[in-house]
Amino acid sequence: MARPLETDYLVIGAGAMGMAFTDALVDHADVHVTLVDRRHAAGGHWLDAYPFVQLHQASLFYGVASTVLGTGMVQSTGPERGLQHRARVSEICAYFDHVLHDRFLRSGRVALLGGSEYRADGASHLVTSLVSGETVPVSVRRRVVDATHLSPTIPATTPAPFHVADDVRVAPINDLARLTWTPRHYVVVGSGKTATDGIIWLLAQGVPQDRITWVRPRDPWMLDRATVQPDPVVALDLAAKIMAAAASAGSADDLFLRLETSAVMLRIDRSVVPTMAKAPTLGAWELERLRTIEHVVRLGHVKHVTARELVLDRGVVALPPSSLVVHCAASGLRYPPMVPIWSPDKLRLQTIRAGFPCFNAALTGYVEATRDDDRERNRLCPPCEYPDSPASWARMHARGAIATRTFGAEPDIAAWANGCALNPSRIEPSRRDAPAIRAAAARLSEHLERGLARLAELGDEPLPA
Ligand SMILES: Cc1cc2nc3c(=O)[nH]c(=O)nc-3n(C[C@H](O)[C@H](O)[C@H](O)COP(=O)(O)OP(=O)(O)OC[C@H]3O[C@@H](n4cnc5c(N)ncnc54)[C@H](O)[C@@H]3O)c2cc1C
Repeated sequence: MARPLETDYLVIGAGAMGMAFTDALVDHADVHVTLVDRRHAAGGHWLDAYPFVQLHQASLFYGVASTVLGTGMVQSTGPERGLQHRARVSEICAYFDHVLHDRFLRSGRVALLGGSEYRADGASHLVTSLVSGETVPVSVRRRVVDATHLSPTIPATTPAPFHVADDVRVAPINDLARLTWTPRHYVVVGSGKTATDGIIWLLAQGVPQDRITWVRPRDPWMLDRATVQPDPVVALDLAAKIMAAAASAGSADDLFLRLETSAVMLRIDRSVVPTMAKAPTLGAWELERLRTIEHVVRLGHVKHVTARELVLDRGVVALPPSSLVVHCAASGLRYPPMVPIWSPDKLRLQTIRAGFPCFNAALTGYVEATRDDDRERNRLCPPCEYPDSPASWARMHARGAIATRTFGAEPDIAAWANGCALNPSRIEPSRRDAPAIRAAAARLSEHLERGLARLAELGDEPLPA
């Protein structure tokens, strides 16, 4: 075995969360970090993403705290005129490459072991190159950081979750952009952001809607993209609308229906009450296009596919000849049990405030660098969860709001967070007294306490005494 490498922090995973954590840590502590990733470069799942994917949120909210992704420009043309720029996958990969090489590696304080698999062997940390096969032990002076805890599953690297007969063509969404034959019919399987991206892309390529079938096991709620923008008035207004809707909601479904009325939530079919609430953002123009699809199959999950039929939980659907089944059915977000972020064995990156993985990973890096007691770190940064259903969305917001209050009560964290572009709640000090901001803040405080208490009830999440 090779001679041990030495480092202060061994960060497993050079995706967005591992990168954001490392960036904030080295900005506030004089330490050495070694990133390890089985992918050859930084960027995580984006390195295997379908070529037409974009962030669903503004670029400003994504990446690392020290370096803004994109230009911070509002789009001046196209269907999202007036909304913030959203980076495409090529831009995201180039951005992480730049941060890795020009900021991390050049500093000499961060190293990347790319194309390498991490494994623990008792108390030893071993990294094996997938290229040479050589294994190197790593001696870690301070911490091991697990930046894979919330790593999303994507179709390119996750097999379709149904049985596929030999005579049918099933391909991950990535293959749509490199077809070597022209299917007569497309069957898009999945209810989430990946499926919506696939359908919108097919329509944009000129595929008529009647050549597309959409297998939607669950109907999704999605956030209107216009309500999630890096603008404090928009952010306060969104928070006020969520709290106002929650304050009067009779159930989690009622909360979402109220949020639809206040132009926060969108659903594709207004005759169906969605049960899925991962709640990515969607543009109004995308909603309009998705609504043109007439062949929607709602018979549960696909169990088996042949060239002639789809077998689902609650029925069988015939497939037109020469169909391509498009796999958009990886779960995307992951739902491991929430555990304390700081544990004796390792630090497990999770969200803290609702959503926004990059901000949360950066916050964890800042708190790691500036506090020296794990109990206090865990008090300031309790783990949150990603949502899957209306009730878990309510719980995420209740937990996230309480956590934001807790870490926000520390003056230094509040000042850091307020200077961090990744933070969707930041308000530049010079704008605090702007009339629009004061009005939105007043609307929020009118509903905050009742809304928060009700969100906690709807999510079955006890509030701290
Ligand atoms: C299509 C899509 C669009 C999205 N858009 C947005 C958006 O607009 N805004 C937003 O905030 N979020 C968005 N997300 C969610 C967000 O990208 C992710 O939740 C998160 O940022 C992913 O980063 P990660 O570091 O957790 O995981 P990953 O990117 O998966 O990185 C984890 C890395 O760990 C490595 N790894 C795992 N195990 C090992 C091991 N044993 N040894 C070595 N390496 C290992 C993997 O190779 C991987 O590269 C999107 C997600 C998807 C799928």
